[in-house]
Amino acid sequence: MTKLNIKTGDNVLVIAGKDKGKVSVVSSTSPKQGKVCVQDVNVQTKHVKARRANEKSEIKKIEGLIDISNVMVVCPSCNKATRVARKEVDGKMVRVCKKCGAVLDTDKKVAKATKAAKTAKSSTKKTSSTVAKSGVKKQTAKGATNRVVKRGDKGGSK
Ligand SMILES: [Zn+2]
Repeated sequence: MTKLNIKTGDNVLVIAGKDKGKVSVVSSTSPKQGKVCVQDVNVQTKHVKARRANEKSEIKKIEGLIDISNVMVVCPSCNKATRVARKEVDGKMVRVCKKCGAVLDTDKKVAKATKAAKTAKSSTKKTSSTVAKSGVKKQTAKGATNRVVKRGDKGGSK
């Protein structure tokens, strides 16, 4: 299994095949096969016949897989189709444009970081509120258990 230099969401240039020259976004990757699925590239039409009463017969357009050797990553900073180098930044391996040296993974990282920050904030809010609630619950629970015990005592005395 070879490691792909292309990830889902990348802008790629198709360099071979019937869609040669197209620039589009990677919709999915299959590292085991060394292939990627690119939006509007290698579109295959499939005629689907209705098998049940509520289904419709239709012609579906399905994007086929294309080999990763047929696509090149388009660098967002220099806008050129490029090969990918790997470099260690802040202890993490990131993909780097071979032509201009720009890091290709930064945008996603930032997005992830902001997401993480947001979730962290919301979680802290949640925990504080749940703590307050659970405190109340504990008190009520204690009261309930006391009552139960009292009842139980009564029952036992009978
Ligand atoms: Zn570049």
